[in-house]
Amino acid sequence: MAKETETAVMTNFIYNMIKEDLEKGVLGDKCVHTRFPPEPNGYLHIGHARAVLLNYRLAKIFGGKFNLRFDDTNPIKEEQEFVDSIMEDLRWLGADWQERLFFSSDYFEAKYEFALRLIKAGKAYVCDLDQEQIREYRGTLTEPGKESPYRNRSVEENLDLFKRMRSGEFPDGSRVLRARIDMAAGNLNMRDPVLYRILHSAHHRTGDKWCIYPMYDFDHPFSDAHEGITHSLCSIEYTDHRPLYDWIVDNAVALYPEAIAFRSRQTEFARLNLTYTVMSKRKLRRLVEEKYVESWDDPRMPTIAGMRRRGFSPTSIADFQERVGVSRADSTADLALLEHCIREELETSAPRLMAVLDPIKLVITNWPEGNTEMTEMENIPGDESAGTRKVPFSRTLYIERDDFMEDPPKKFFRLAPGREVRLKGAYIIQCEEVIKDSEGNVVELRCSYDPQTKSGADTSGKKVKGVIHWVSVVHAAWIKVNLYDNLFSIENPEEEKDVDFTDNINPRSLLVCENVPSEPAVAAADPGSRFQFLRKGYFYYDPVATKDDKLVFNRIVPLKDSWAKIKKK
Ligand code: ATP
Ligand code: MG
Repeated sequence: MAKETETAVMTNFIYNMIKEDLEKGVLGDKCVHTRFPPEPNGYLHIGHARAVLLNYRLAKIFGGKFNLRFDDTNPIKEEQEFVDSIMEDLRWLGADWQERLFFSSDYFEAKYEFALRLIKAGKAYVCDLDQEQIREYRGTLTEPGKESPYRNRSVEENLDLFKRMRSGEFPDGSRVLRARIDMAAGNLNMRDPVLYRILHSAHHRTGDKWCIYPMYDFDHPFSDAHEGITHSLCSIEYTDHRPLYDWIVDNAVALYPEAIAFRSRQTEFARLNLTYTVMSKRKLRRLVEEKYVESWDDPRMPTIAGMRRRGFSPTSIADFQERVGVSRADSTADLALLEHCIREELETSAPRLMAVLDPIKLVITNWPEGNTEMTEMENIPGDESAGTRKVPFSRTLYIERDDFMEDPPKKFFRLAPGREVRLKGAYIIQCEEVIKDSEGNVVELRCSYDPQTKSGADTSGKKVKGVIHWVSVVHAAWIKVNLYDNLFSIENPEEEKDVDFTDNINPRSLLVCENVPSEPAVAAADPGSRFQFLRKGYFYYDPVATKDDKLVFNRIVPLKDSWAKIKKK
């Protein structure tokens, strides 16, 4: 389980680095200050959870601060729905930003001022090349770039043009503001990167106030330094952007010190990937838009919202992140490990109940009609403090269809003609007769029970190997159950190069059991709670999908743990 104490330690290189910074006094009188900077253009996924928990926990462990800052600099793809879902997900994960909720757009005015100062210092210019030309002029890894013909515009002209860009005089794409760094730099990011573009598009927060928008590489370091972020943690693909990050921060410190709270530094860590799923937002969006799944929070999605609805707990996700760890090397974590984490948590905490997913009727012919007996069962085996419950037992029951075989192999220890099995918490029964319909399908089993075999008071001396679960027909609560399998049928769908990733979607990722009889206690449970349905796995009472007349339970994971096996390999 995730530790959350002031004395907690983490075993990763970033923790060690911060510890060293503190020991050396690098932060001066500042405390450790981190942030999570999502772009509100989609839902968060389990990979984002790494960044969220890493930033949040480091701040917490070192007694520092943690900001949530929306990176909302692209008005075209961003929506309030995503802002709301991201905040909900952070709260659920336990990453508390307290009063420190920010938006990059909060600092548009300050960034504009900084851009003016860069221009005045001869460090930025307005360029009229179009996107295509800028790319051509940029050169390649082996060839230096060519200077833009607009590179040597006067400060006055640049100021005038940039102000007119802001006032809306020019159409989209006609001009950009660029940093004036070095067109021969070995690092392509330093070849006069674009800082601002023209975009006549309303923004979800600033409305029509702006028609120029800062680029990420300009926006992000400024926002960090402005907020006083001491350690700007980002994923590994930004490594090549670090010199530019430093260039922006250094210039902000030099030219606009009154807007800067700290000289932020960037540190990169590897992205988290997960087997049997995709993680890129573009692909997740396609899954939703092309209706391969029902929504962003479909329980098959690797989104935090999807995992929440599937029934994963915040602690199981934190535990998983902790075990996977954080490094600089790309890795793909095993879905089986995440499933192992939730199993481990629920094994000792989830109450047991009985539900029959694929029912067949069973009549106990020597049980009196109309007679109900309450059998007592423990809620959590081995945990007396979890108490017991009473489950009604009667003449007509449901059992799982596959707990019966007409012509069983030797090692089948459940029900078959003439064979005996124990009904969990109740009696040993013997199958006397098999009733079939006109097509030869088994529709009912007639059995007899042995009154000497009452569970907990068995005086018969009988030994049976099989114990099966059951539900009394007249007492049954009817629920809907969703069973899930991996969303993709191959381990690394993201790596398949020659096919569209949707070609590897598992067509059987969802199996719906519309009418599942369950013991009456199920209907009285609280939405949002988790159970083990005996022998069938761990389930989550889905408060989102449940309607008044239909209670919906999602299987989080089956009982069989494949992690132990994988670990041995
Ligand atoms: P985009 O391609 O839209 O930028 P993104 O997944 O990087 O997608 P952001 O909203 O920018 O989306 O991500 C917020 C933060 O989460 C970033 O700091 C990013 O580095 C981090 N992050 C994103 N994906 C992962 C991942 N798979 N593992 C760890 N961190 C991630
Ligand atoms: Mg990003």
